[in-house]
Amino acid sequence: MPTLVKNELNVYECAEARFEMAAAKLGLEDDLYRYLRFPNKEITIYIPVTMDDGRLEVFTGYRVQHSLVRGPGKGGIRYAPDVTLDEVRALASWMTWKCAVVNIPFGGAKGGIICDPQKMSQKELERMTRRYTAELTDWIGPERDVPAPDLGTNEKVMAWVMDTYSMHMRHTVTAVVTGKPLDLGGSRGRREATGRGVHFVCDKAIEKLGMKREECRVVIQGFGNVGSMAAMLLSEAGYKIVGVSDIHGGLYNENGFNVPAVIEWVHGQRKPLPDFPGGGAKMAGQELLFQPCEILIPAAIENQITSANAHRVQTRILCEGANGPTTPPADDVLRDKGVFVLPDILANAGGVTVSYFEWVQDRQGFFWRESEVNERLKDVMERSFDEIVRYAESHGVNNRIAAYMVAIDRVAFALKLRGLYA
Ligand code: GLU
Repeated sequence: MPTLVKNELNVYECAEARFEMAAAKLGLEDDLYRYLRFPNKEITIYIPVTMDDGRLEVFTGYRVQHSLVRGPGKGGIRYAPDVTLDEVRALASWMTWKCAVVNIPFGGAKGGIICDPQKMSQKELERMTRRYTAELTDWIGPERDVPAPDLGTNEKVMAWVMDTYSMHMRHTVTAVVTGKPLDLGGSRGRREATGRGVHFVCDKAIEKLGMKREECRVVIQGFGNVGSMAAMLLSEAGYKIVGVSDIHGGLYNENGFNVPAVIEWVHGQRKPLPDFPGGGAKMAGQELLFQPCEILIPAAIENQITSANAHRVQTRILCEGANGPTTPPADDVLRDKGVFVLPDILANAGGVTVSYFEWVQDRQGFFWRESEVNERLKDVMERSFDEIVRYAESHGVNNRIAAYMVAIDRVAFALKLRGLYA
């Protein structure tokens, strides 16, 4: 049956369509369905900021708490010019399902500010972050809602959030955010965590499909935190990285890239990726998605694989490092092509899993070795992969719908146990 969405490029509509599909398959009770369809809370904040030239600018920011049923809200803060409330809503709901897929005790939330961090000074970013945090003081906190980095934000931004919140509380509260610098209560392995999780589920997928690492050509769209870390860890493990891209464009090279050299070029020297002197055919970042490979990893933004282009994808495995890179109508095409999909709410859950470890360590005031973090992450990712794939096979659904079904079932069960307070 084809998937119906009116506007496939509206991420919230896509998130709703998948929720509805999975809820129907699950036979979710009407009342639970009605409860879980809506976010718990949506906060819009107008953030006045004095810019470096003395002008006052007012930015629009959001925090959406989709669900607090299984624990405090959890999810990143995104700084980007095209942030919309619908996008933050969709991302918040994906956090709920993601945390439930890997079975960590959090709900789902997401924040965003419409701004262009590339065009702002560090001081402007700091003032904007602090004002946004101050406005959110009543809604965030270790027991309420715990932000983290996402597109356009990083450890430094998390340090400002932590400091601002702590000043209002009159004591240091490290567990209010995750993805912090190591010296401020961050966790070892958090920076690499999403890429490492991607690596673990790729290992599981090729094992299941009877493929070998050395025979796997990997194409990665996006070279930010997730894309570059996935590239590094996969190449260290013996996979061949044949395609890479950033916002400036992509490069494809059948012989494989020297990934540390690409990382040094892009992150060390801050040069555009397509100018990397190590060889390869230059192409637009989106074209890279259609090059031949065994594993395709979109690790940039939403809506990259759609009904208009899914037929051009030439991969055996699609591993979603980004949130929402594939639309529901594109899923239908990929299913018909026999692509093995590792859906975002499973594939990129390594980040939030180590965020959970960071929150636990902060609250205990006791910090783990990196090997301990990575081992625990491996356990979580492998167990989640097995649960989702087994569920998909036994229920005759694809991996994505299986992940939604498992997640919705867990949240609905918790909700039933809690009951409705009215
Ligand atoms: N922004 C990341 C995500 O989309 C991490 C969220 C977190 O660690 O809370 O999963």
